[in-house]
Amino acid sequence: MSTPTNHMPTAELQALDAAHHMHPFTTNDELRDRGVRVIKSGKGVFLKDSEGNQILDAMSGLWCVNIGYGRQEMVDVASRQMLELPFYNTFFNTTHTPAIELAAELAKLAPDHLNHVFFAGSGSEANDTNLRMVRTYWAQKGHPEKSHIISRKNAYHGSTMGSGSMGGMTYMHEQGGMPIPGIHHINQPDWWAEGGDMTPEDFGLARARELEAKIEELGADKVAAFIAEPVQGAGGVIVPPSTYWPEIQRICEKHNVLIIADEVICGFGRTGNWFGSTTMGIKPHIMTIAKGLSSGYAPIGGSIVCDEVAEVINACEFNHGYTYSGHPVCAAVALENLRILQEENILDHVNNVAGPALHAALEVLAEHPLVGGMNVCGMMASLPLTPHKETRAKFAMEAGTVGFMCRERCFANDLVMRHVGDRMIISPPLVITPEEIDIFQTRAVKALDDTYSALMEKDMLKAAS
Ligand SMILES: *Cc1c(COP(=O)(O)O)cnc(C)c1O
Repeated sequence: MSTPTNHMPTAELQALDAAHHMHPFTTNDELRDRGVRVIKSGKGVFLKDSEGNQILDAMSGLWCVNIGYGRQEMVDVASRQMLELPFYNTFFNTTHTPAIELAAELAKLAPDHLNHVFFAGSGSEANDTNLRMVRTYWAQKGHPEKSHIISRKNAYHGSTMGSGSMGGMTYMHEQGGMPIPGIHHINQPDWWAEGGDMTPEDFGLARARELEAKIEELGADKVAAFIAEPVQGAGGVIVPPSTYWPEIQRICEKHNVLIIADEVICGFGRTGNWFGSTTMGIKPHIMTIAKGLSSGYAPIGGSIVCDEVAEVINACEFNHGYTYSGHPVCAAVALENLRILQEENILDHVNNVAGPALHAALEVLAEHPLVGGMNVCGMMASLPLTPHKETRAKFAMEAGTVGFMCRERCFANDLVMRHVGDRMIISPPLVITPEEIDIFQTRAVKALDDTYSALMEKDMLKAAS
C-alpha cells in the first residue's frame, strides 16, 4: 500500500511511533529508548519487518492468526461486505445476514446445549457481557444475591474493569481500582511451578477442591459462576492435571454454580477440538470467544450461551450491548474463517500433522539444559526455563529477567516466542507445516543456546534460594 509512512526509514517510523503512540502493556519510555520493531507484512506463518527480516511467528500474532497471514479469501469477503453493508446495528429490532449466519454456524459447531450467541467486539467485552449475564440470570430467577464470581490467580480474561477484575493478574489489579467487588480468586493448577513434591494428579485435585472451599466460605447461594480458561494461555500455557477439570465440573454441579469457559485462545482448533471444553471434558454454560474466531483478521468476540441461561435472559430486556455487536464485516470475515477451517480440514491437520510435529520439536527443546520441562496441549505450549532441571528451580534474579533475555534472542534469530515470566510461549498458526516446525526448532535451539551462553557469561545461572 502506498502511504507516505510506508516509505519512511525505520528510524523515522520509530520516532513517530514514540512521539504519538501509547502501546498496551508497555513502559513506553523504555520502548522509545530501545526502538520499536515495525512489522510490515505477513504471509503464511512468516512476518516481514521494516528491515526486511523474515520472522517465523510462533505466537500467531497474539494467539489469533490461526489460518496464517495473507489469505486472499478473507480480503475478498471483507471488501464485498463493506460495499454491500458496512455497518448496521442489531439493537432496534433489526439484524443482517452475516450476524444471522455466524450465530447459526457457531451454534452448530459448539457443544449440543450451547445454541445462542451474544456478540461483542473483543474477548474483554464478551467477558463483561458474561459477568452481567450470569448475575442477571440469577436475579431473574429470584436470587439477586447469587452474584459473586470465582476466578483464578494468574488467569487472563481481558483488560476492561470487569474482565480485568475476573482475571488474576496482580500487576493489573494494582492500577485503576481493580478488582471490582464480588470477584474472588483461588489458586491455579500450575503443577510445574507450584506442585512441589505432589503428583500432578493429587495436585490437580487439591487445587480443584479450593473451589469447593471458596464456595462453602461464601455460601453457594451467593456464588453465580466460576470462570476459567480450559488451558490458561497468557498465564503461561498451564495445562491442568487430568484430575482437575472433572473435579471442578462435579463441584459446580453440586453447588449450582454456572461455568464460564473462556475459550478466547482455546477455541477454534487450538487444542485439537473446536473448543478446549471438549478437550478438557468441561460442560460450560457460557463460552467466551474472540481471537481465533476471525483468525485476527477483524475484531470480533462473543458469548455462546446454553439453552437454560438463554431462556431466562431472552425473557427479559437485557440492557447491554455494543455498537459493534455482530458487526457485519467482522461477522462475514469470521464466517469465512470458519469455512476455511472446515474446508481445509485444519483440525485434522492439527491432530495428525502439525500437533505431532510440534510435540516432537518440543521434546527436543525440552532436552536443552535451560529448559525445565514442557506444557503442551494441541498447538499451544510453554517451555519453563530453569537454572536446575531436576528441582524445577526458579532463577535468583527477578522473575521474567531470563524469559525476556530469551525473547530478545528469539527475535535476533528471526523467531517470535513470547515470554511469560521465565516461560517461553509457543502458539503458532494452526496451518504451520512440519518443514516450518523444523525451522522453528532450529531457531529456538539457537535462541536457547545464545541465552544460555549469556547467562554463563554474566554468572546468572543461579537458582533462587
Ligand atoms: C486475549 C484474551 C482475552 C481478551 O480478549 P481481547 O480481545 O484482548 O479483549 C480474554 N480471555 C482470554 C483467555 C484471552 O486470551
